[in-house]
Amino acid sequence: MLRAAKTSVIRPFDPWRGRFCTCPPKFSFDPYTGCEHGCLYCYASSYIRRFYECRPKRDLLKLVKSDVKKLPENALISMSNSSDPYPPMELELQLTRQCLAEFQKKNLRILIITKSDLVTRDLDLLRKLRCAVALTITTLDASLARRLEPNAPPPSRRLDAVEKLSSEGIKIGIRVDPIIPYLNDDVRELLKEVRNTGAAHVTSSTFKPRPDSWARIEMTFPEIAEKLRPFYFGEGERIARSHYLPKTLRFRLMEKVAEECRRLSLTFACCREGFTELNTGASCDGSHLTPARPYSSKD
Ligand code: SF4
Repeated sequence: MLRAAKTSVIRPFDPWRGRFCTCPPKFSFDPYTGCEHGCLYCYASSYIRRFYECRPKRDLLKLVKSDVKKLPENALISMSNSSDPYPPMELELQLTRQCLAEFQKKNLRILIITKSDLVTRDLDLLRKLRCAVALTITTLDASLARRLEPNAPPPSRRLDAVEKLSSEGIKIGIRVDPIIPYLNDDVRELLKEVRNTGAAHVTSSTFKPRPDSWARIEMTFPEIAEKLRPFYFGEGERIARSHYLPKTLRFRLMEKVAEECRRLSLTFACCREGFTELNTGASCDGSHLTPARPYSSKD
């Protein structure tokens, strides 16, 4: 059981006690509130005000220092689940970098989830950490990525980041997440690239729209939305505030990714789908990739 430390910005991860969540016990930390990457499918925009106006948390470093003291030994911190820890302003502010330096002092386990190649700037620090990096890449098609994730770095830069980090020995997972039928559901080439760049694990999920993310997809891809509507709002099911595709279709989509991963010797896990029988990774989120000791202390 995760000890519920009385912390202020690093909190026990509890995705609304989601029925399909298979994440190991961990803490969740967002150095920034909101996110500039502007992904159409983002679910965090449904519960964070002025979401696309990224801003640093007030007194962040002071709060992090105080929270870190209260965390149990060997705690796992996932950063970030409701924003990206490497938004463009991080280049100048270096807040994520400073937080990583604090985590290093306590030898905490860190899972960095990002869409930005800016993470490679911190390679010197990553080597001193028990960390793994989960880079999200949803497509190799740069023009589709520009429409889906307008302000995030293009897929080629993310792949370069994977290559750079993995060539330095940093463990990498890839989030092919979310998969939207008719838009990015053929991931064979993507997975091949991912394997060639040295990633070890793939986490994937299907798009589960909430009202605001559905409206954004509908506005940008009206013809695709027309085809998807009966699946999501007719045959599909509503779970909490999200709309799910019909179970058989979700399973088929995830099975396709799982099979391709198996063929390429990548481990696989779904995120919040309820198909644990497809999982081959030791964790769904890639946290099993965090090493027992910092990279730089290894032989
Ligand atoms: S990078 Fe993540 S948090 Fe930021 S907009 Fe995209 S999905 Fe949302």
